[in-house]
Amino acid sequence: MTIGRLHNKVALVVGAGSIGPGWGNGKATSVLFAREGARVFCTDVNGAAADETVRIIREEGGAATPFRADVSKSDDIEAMVAACMNAHGRIDVLDYNVGIAEVGGVVDVSEEDWDRVFAINLKGAYLAMKHVIPIMQAQGGGSIVNISSIASIRYTGVPYATYSATKAALNHLTRTTAVQYAPDKIRVNAVLPGLLKTPMVEKSVGLAREYAAGDVDKMWEARNAQCPMGEMGDAWDVAYAALYLASDEAKYVTGLELVVDGGITLKY
Ligand code: NAD
Repeated sequence: MTIGRLHNKVALVVGAGSIGPGWGNGKATSVLFAREGARVFCTDVNGAAADETVRIIREEGGAATPFRADVSKSDDIEAMVAACMNAHGRIDVLDYNVGIAEVGGVVDVSEEDWDRVFAINLKGAYLAMKHVIPIMQAQGGGSIVNISSIASIRYTGVPYATYSATKAALNHLTRTTAVQYAPDKIRVNAVLPGLLKTPMVEKSVGLAREYAAGDVDKMWEARNAQCPMGEMGDAWDVAYAALYLASDEAKYVTGLELVVDGGITLKY
C-alpha cells in the first residue's frame, strides 16, 4: 500500500484559491497536499475560491476545510490559525502562497499600493509565522513554505518595484527564521517560481502591456522564447516543489530558496 507523502499531517494553505477558473499555485498545492494524505485547511480572502478548492479535494475523496481570511488583517490571521487548530488540533505545514503583483517602477507606484502589497505579501507572512511557530514549537516541529518569486533575485524585465522588494524581504525573513527556529525542528524554506501560466498572470494586463502592447498571446510567445526550456511553467511545478519542502523527505533542508523557473534566472 502506498502511504501519502503528507500522511497524518495537517496543512494550512494561505491563498488556497485562484483568481480564475484555472489552476493557481495555492489551489494546485492544496489539491496535491490532499492527494498525498494531508488534511488541508484552505484559506483565502475569496471565500468562493477557497470553497471551490475544497470541493475539488472532497470530490477526489480528500479531507479539506474552507476558511475566509484576509491576510492584510491581523485579526483574520489570528482567527484563521485558531480555526485550523479547532478543526484539527495541530499544524504541521504552513504554506504561505498569497501574493499580489503591481507593475510599476518607484516613480509610478503610489504610497497606498506600496503599503497594500507589503501588507499582503510580507506582513501577512510574518503574522502567519508568528502565530503558527509557537504551535509547531509545542508539537516538536513543522515545515513552513513561503512562496516567493524569481523577481526577488533578478530584474525580470518587468518593473515590479514593490512586488520584488516584498519577495526579497520574504526570502531573508525565511532565512533568518529558518536559522532561529532550527533547534525547534521547524524548517522554513522558500519557493521562487519563474513566470507561470496561472490565472493571475493571464489577467495581468499591465504585464502584457509591458511585453507585447497588451497582447497576452504575444506575451506568452515572448516569454516562452526567452526560457531555456522553451515554455513557461504552471501551478503544478510550484505545488510539487512545495510538497517536497513540506514533506519529511526534506527533513534536513531549511533556509533554502528553491528556484522553479525552467532555467530562466540563469539567463538574466
Ligand atoms: P492567484 O492570484 O491565482 O492566487 C492567489 C490567491 O491569493 C487568490 O486566490 C487570491 O484570492 C488570494 N489572495 C489575494 N489577496 C489576499 C488576501 N489579502 N488575503 C488572503 N488571500 C488573498 O495567484 P498565483 O499566480 O497562483 O500566485 C500565487 C503565489 O505565487 C503568489 O505569492 C505569487 O507572488 C507567486 N508567484 C506567482 C508567479 C506566476 O507567474 N503566477 C510567479 C512567481 C511567483
